[in-house]
Amino acid sequence: MTKSDSKADLVATVAASYAARPDVTADDIVALVSKLRREFGEPEQGSVDARPPAHGPVRAEPAIPIEKAVTHDKVFCLCCGKGFKMLKRHLGAEHGLTEAAYRAMFGLSEDVPLVAPSYSNRKAKYAREVGFGKYDRGEASAGRSETEENQSIS
Ligand SMILES: [Zn+2]
Repeated sequence: MTKSDSKADLVATVAASYAARPDVTADDIVALVSKLRREFGEPEQGSVDARPPAHGPVRAEPAIPIEKAVTHDKVFCLCCGKGFKMLKRHLGAEHGLTEAAYRAMFGLSEDVPLVAPSYSNRKAKYAREVGFGKYDRGEASAGRSETEENQSIS
């Protein structure tokens, strides 16, 4: 018996005894096997993955460059390029995305705000600290926010 065989055996044994419990659902078992395989360092097989994302696992191509997605007055949607003060509601209404799914899609870290800095004083302060401060009020209102004004929250 090789090393990897014994691992696979162990996963099967654990899954089988777990499955014998009356309170366990099929989904629980799939999740457990998936977890065990990850912990044993085995590659997951597609048919076993219990969490296929509804919108596909591939990272999407942003409509506009990510570094331009946050200005002082607006946060631009990377799916469609529209600007909003608060992106979260738009994501759900227009794209059926949660904030987490959106971040995953474009590889955004938690540091990227989804609320315009001018809309949230706390985040505005943070945005200046991380370098978005170059978009000061003058530049932002003279810039593209002029043309995007009619595309506010629907
Ligand atoms: Zn959008």
